[in-house]
Amino acid sequence: MKGWRLFTLTIFCLLLLPATALAQPAQRVVSFHSQVMEENGQTFLRCEIGLSQPPAEYTVKGGGVLRPKRLLIEFADTGMGDVPRDVTLDEAYARQAVFREEEGLTRLAIAMTAPAEEANYRVSTREADKKQKLPWRLVIDIYDAEEHSGPALIDGVKGHTIVLDPGHGGTDTGAIGVDGLQEKDITLLVAKRVQQLLTDSGARVVMTRDDDQDVYGPSATDAQELQARVDVGEATGGAEVFLSIHCNAFAKPAAHGTETYYYPKSENDKALAQALQDGMLDHGRLRDRGVKQARFYVLRNSSLPAALVELAFITNYEEKKLLADEDFQQEMALGICEGLANYFAATR
Ligand SMILES: [Zn+2]
Repeated sequence: MKGWRLFTLTIFCLLLLPATALAQPAQRVVSFHSQVMEENGQTFLRCEIGLSQPPAEYTVKGGGVLRPKRLLIEFADTGMGDVPRDVTLDEAYARQAVFREEEGLTRLAIAMTAPAEEANYRVSTREADKKQKLPWRLVIDIYDAEEHSGPALIDGVKGHTIVLDPGHGGTDTGAIGVDGLQEKDITLLVAKRVQQLLTDSGARVVMTRDDDQDVYGPSATDAQELQARVDVGEATGGAEVFLSIHCNAFAKPAAHGTETYYYPKSENDKALAQALQDGMLDHGRLRDRGVKQARFYVLRNSSLPAALVELAFITNYEEKKLLADEDFQQEMALGICEGLANYFAATR
């Protein structure tokens, strides 16, 4: 008796499965419009997303640690109609809107200029208007970053001055990793994220370079190039910390993890290195290779407490993938900023 029930059930499931797999989403995104508007003396960017069939089930999520400026809207049971997938917006409010269709739902990611927090955007809906041939719409109003600046992202760095040195650059590629990934590019990307987080949080940041360039000049000697970086720190009034950002490399691809170097020229150098190492481990979660002394030029010759961080190994396959990944870059940047905040708190 149990045998035929199982058989019937199997047939039923086999009939059901293809039907579910082929099911079309209940609705489609049919339009997307954006326009800068003014109401009650406030200007904002209005984005209207039209759907073929109301009522739409949707969620709106903003912020988060990884992508604080991304507003993510998910439409359940929705596919894409004939609408551009990638739209450039007015950058005073948002950089772009990108639609992605995934397993029966559609996600819209809006890269806002201000943090994607509730104070900086407003969501409403509009019923379909047959006379004007308008579909049901989700309306998102986005305010600009200056009128609605979000709260500081990192506590404890406001008012501090930090010199950031993205390792290598220009004619000096630094280490070359798996698939030709260049150290100089990763150090700059992470340094820029650190710079953004720190300045958003009220700190002052001076960069030794903010582009793919040599600091002294093309094909300088190591000493000239490194001294030029040290000089940026020495010339920055009120600077408290010199921080050089690098990626590690080793002949054996198995080598992996995060480490931080210092030169014990003051009582604060090691404390700085340890705070940065702890912050990076908290966020990057790679192997702890520890805090180490080294006679690196920038560490010895900077009069400021200085540290040189090695984020991860560009020569290790797994870590090279992480180094190239935006989320990992942001996590490491956050870890560095938290390390700085903890260092400032401990040395006050
Ligand atoms: Zn390096």
